[in-house]
Parts: sequence; C-alpha cells; structure tokens
Amino acid sequence: MRTIKAQNIIKTVNLLLTSLLVLMAYADLFGQQRKPEETEVWEPVPPVVTPGVGNQPPSDAIVLFDGKNLDAWESVNGGGPAPWMVMDGYVMVKPGSGAIQTKASFGSCQLHLEWKTPIDTAGKHSQERGNSGVFLQSRYEVQVLDNFRNRTYSNGQAASIYKQAIPQVNACLPPGDWQRYDIFYNAPQFDSAGKLIKPAYVTVVQNGILVENHFEIKGNTMYIGNPEYKAHGDLPLQLQDHGNFMAFRNIWVRNIQD
Ligand code: MG
Repeated sequence: MRTIKAQNIIKTVNLLLTSLLVLMAYADLFGQQRKPEETEVWEPVPPVVTPGVGNQPPSDAIVLFDGKNLDAWESVNGGGPAPWMVMDGYVMVKPGSGAIQTKASFGSCQLHLEWKTPIDTAGKHSQERGNSGVFLQSRYEVQVLDNFRNRTYSNGQAASIYKQAIPQVNACLPPGDWQRYDIFYNAPQFDSAGKLIKPAYVTVVQNGILVENHFEIKGNTMYIGNPEYKAHGDLPLQLQDHGNFMAFRNIWVRNIQD
C-alpha cells in the first residue's frame, strides 16, 4: 500500500511540475508577443533648446551678465545700481560696496558662472583668499574661495555649502585662472502655514568635476550657529562682497522643473 501511495505522490508531483513548465512556456510565448511600442511614451514633447557654442549660454538661458553691464543686478544695500566695477568682459567686486543681487527672483534653477581669485595671495590665508559666495535665493551660500594649496575648514572651502556640506573633492584651479561653477538647485517648498514640506537640494559641478551631489540644504546659511529654514518664495540670486578683488563673468541661469 505504502509503495502505491508513494508512487501516486511521485506521479502527482510530476504532473504538477509538467503543468508548471507548460504554463511557464506559455507565459514566455505571451511575453514574446508583447510589442516594444507598448512602453513608448510620446507626450509631452520636450521643447528644443539649442546648446551654446563654446562659452555661449544655451538658447533658453536668462543672461545675467555677458561682460558688458550690470543691468540685471542691483545693490543689496538699499537697492540702486550694482556698485561693482565692470571691466573688459568681466565684473570685479568693489570691496566694501556690499553684495549685489539680481533684479529678478528665481526658484529652482540651473546657474552657470565663472570666477577668478586674485593672484596676489601674499600674507593671505584660509578664508582671506578670494572670498565671495553665490547665495541661492539670497540665503543658501555656495562658497567661492581660493583653495588652491590653501587650507581652511573643510565645510567652508570652495564649493562647500557654507558650514553645511564639505565638497567631495578640491577641484580648485590656481589663482588667476578662470573657474566654472554649474549649480543645479531645487528650491525648498513650504505649506501655507510656512512649514517646510520639502527641503532644498543642490548639486555643484566645479570646472567639470562633481563636488556636491544632490545635497539636502539644512536651512539658511549661518556664520554662527545652526541653519534653520524660514518660509520664502522666489528670491534674487546674490553675489557676496567679502572684501576681496574677485572677478566674475559669463553668468546665466535657466529656470528648471523639480
Ligand atoms: Mg563666502
């Protein structure tokens, strides 16, 4: 009896396995009958943007400074014309005149700018060399500093999110060389009561090298103390006057989707 029972069990298991194999073969057959078109998405159609040739901005960029004038900028100190010095194709910080900001306000954006730190580094160390900064939405600073063979605190060196994020590498060129920042910024979101519902994120590429990778910004940049968010909408971009003869050129921005 036992033997017959065992034989029956083996038969049943065999039958089940065969059925499973047949089912799998069918499933595979059906799979092969699916068409590649089923997973194609044709809408929406991305708008055409023509990339810039050489150093030129892309066709949909808002040009903030093209080397000629500071018409897109104003003084942070009580408005009025931006007090910095427009030279031949670049603008130089006028130390002591204060920060400048764009007349227009921005949210999430792609920002390109080029900067150059002074070659006269004699007697200057740490934060004293070529200090400036890019303030996203007037409050979150991407540090600009000469850190070519110049140590400072790591979360305050070039391409740091000042006092919040250390850059992954030091991609600085020597003083006197033009350096590039490409910044990709997602603005924070607040609810109607002013509560943070989504923090800001920032990615920074310095001279073609990724230095900050989708860093979650912790709040307003603070020199002393801890960062904290305060609700806001779109705001100007700012460039910092930190008392050094810093040069900037080729500044453009694109509004982007989150
Ligand atoms: Mg700074």
